[in-house]
Amino acid sequence: MYQYVNICARKIYLDLYVYVVLNITGYNFQTDSSMCMCVSHSFKHTHTPMCSHAPSISAHGAAMVWKGGIKRQLGLLPKAKSAPARSRSRSRSPRGGPHANGGVPDVGGGGSSSSSGAFRSTVSKLFLSNVLSAKQAHEVAHTGTASGAAGVEDFSRAGAGGARPGNLCRDLIRSMLKNCPWPDVYWADIPVVDPATEEAHIVSFPFLLPHEVMDHMHSVHADKFQELIVSEQNGSHLLPLVADFAAEMKLPAHKVVPIGLHGDGVPFAAKMRDSLEQFSWNFCTRPSSARVLFTAIPKKFVAGKQTMDAILAVFAWSMQMLAVGTWPARRHTGDAWLPSDKDRRKRAGQQFGFHGCLIQVRGDWAFYKAVFNFPSWAAKSICWRCEANTSDIDFKDFSLTALWRQRRLEGHTFLHKLRGQGLQPSTLFHSPGLKVKHFMIDWLHTVDLGVAQDALGNLFHEVVGLLPGDTRKQRVAALWAKMRAFYKVAKPPSRLNALTETMIKLPGKPARLRSKAGGCKYLIPFGAALAKELSQGGKHRATVYNPMRNLHEVALCVPTMPYDAPRAAAAGRHFCLLFAALEKEALNSGNNRAWRVKPKLHLFAELIEYTAPEAGSPGLFWTYLDESWGGTLANAGARRRGPKFASSSAMNLIRRYRASVKGDSL
Ligand SMILES: [Zn+2]
Repeated sequence: MYQYVNICARKIYLDLYVYVVLNITGYNFQTDSSMCMCVSHSFKHTHTPMCSHAPSISAHGAAMVWKGGIKRQLGLLPKAKSAPARSRSRSRSPRGGPHANGGVPDVGGGGSSSSSGAFRSTVSKLFLSNVLSAKQAHEVAHTGTASGAAGVEDFSRAGAGGARPGNLCRDLIRSMLKNCPWPDVYWADIPVVDPATEEAHIVSFPFLLPHEVMDHMHSVHADKFQELIVSEQNGSHLLPLVADFAAEMKLPAHKVVPIGLHGDGVPFAAKMRDSLEQFSWNFCTRPSSARVLFTAIPKKFVAGKQTMDAILAVFAWSMQMLAVGTWPARRHTGDAWLPSDKDRRKRAGQQFGFHGCLIQVRGDWAFYKAVFNFPSWAAKSICWRCEANTSDIDFKDFSLTALWRQRRLEGHTFLHKLRGQGLQPSTLFHSPGLKVKHFMIDWLHTVDLGVAQDALGNLFHEVVGLLPGDTRKQRVAALWAKMRAFYKVAKPPSRLNALTETMIKLPGKPARLRSKAGGCKYLIPFGAALAKELSQGGKHRATVYNPMRNLHEVALCVPTMPYDAPRAAAAGRHFCLLFAALEKEALNSGNNRAWRVKPKLHLFAELIEYTAPEAGSPGLFWTYLDESWGGTLANAGARRRGPKFASSSAMNLIRRYRASVKGDSL
């Protein structure tokens, strides 16, 4: 990936020189504003929550709008010349629409249609997304200006016109941030670890506060802001959750804007061996809209849960202000304002004119465990929504009379349980109205990187034994031929590039399809068709067809609006029951690896039978778009020699983010 970006960077760098010439000669280069990631564009859509930008299904299977490589991410491909979807998207995971591009929006020139504005915007985008270094961006600007191009004169003057290269990055971002209307950062003390000494210490760390960002959006576009409120016509699946919050807080529900928080660790460029732990949020009524950065920290600086709790305490405080509906009178610690809070002091007590609530937290199981002390899949008790375990409350029992269905952990019961174990619940629970049920179970990690991979791996392992061929390798090739025939007809946007025996089953391990999430996702209908084709031939083969048919049924429900929760729940339960029956059958014949039921199957049951009926289709809160956004942040925040300090790394990213939304018309 790192090499790929470098190759792209060199190519785009050359393109820019060509572009400078075209610019000077009056060629009007149009940037593709539809690729813009800025928040203002999220308001330009009046679709339903499952609008064309949200993932929608074809083969089972989402017909994702997102296609293309880094050029497209950066909005550099002309619309009419979009690359053919097939070849470009083959190895990609599905993404959530144009906003999923992760590209850096409207910068500096405010999306001007003039050639000078477009030139400035293009150079800014490439620099802010780290495709061009500060030195390269300056060189392009300097050459362009010297050749008569307009729009980047201040970039050309950066670093004393190039005489002080150490100041280039600072000066370029400063130019891009000039007159930025977005709220400034909030500084808060958090504990971090020094990777050199491994000692913890306190640093002042930057945040973009949700209540300030939302107030800014509201002040600029109060009318459009109304579209974020839940109603019968707009995100109706969220009505009960918002009504609960409003009743609990004694607030008018029609003034409450629900938001979702996503957290995850994303690897920086491969050579750095570190990941970026980032937190971003979005409007729940716009599941496919742009994500808004809260803050991010390289993992090597994270002092365990202490750091995460300090970060999330700031988020929870912001949510408290959104519940109250007024600008705070003091800092999040209760202390008086600092000199850096001058503007905040002036606004203390002012009304927002709306309220906000946190009704979705999204992340994968590992993240929930690390940050919120949720149980591990390897623990005795595996679930945060019920008492299912590996002994007396059997997580493998999917019948309607299963004990775990009667032992639900409602309200704050799970948090009481944590305290009983000597663990403190996360500071995020200081957010008004936030409950454990608001922590979403994610389809991407639970199904496309979980139970669907297990089911397809077991199915393919069995099917390979039935196909023609003298050797197992030849029979795997026969299965691959069938898969390619399916691809030819279904044309899914994400495909496997090859199929090998080790992708189906590693020696000594249970079968599992080793693929990217998107590669697995679009094979669910293929799996159902394949199992049906081979279902004649005994009771076992007929049984294998049924879980695949039911999994496909659930997948078909996901993009269908309105979401048919009872139909999905029934199919999901049958899938789990049949999967468990196949494991029992295998165990009875002495095989302890086939159709092995893992804790993720229980999580799948929780998702389809309990979470989705409350929170809507899993497609409305899956993390495909979040993952794409996290990757963009990691690319933008990557430094050639790695980050030296926690706060400067976060500040670099936030400044790039703020500069990227500078042209936001909100
Ligand atoms: Zn459970």
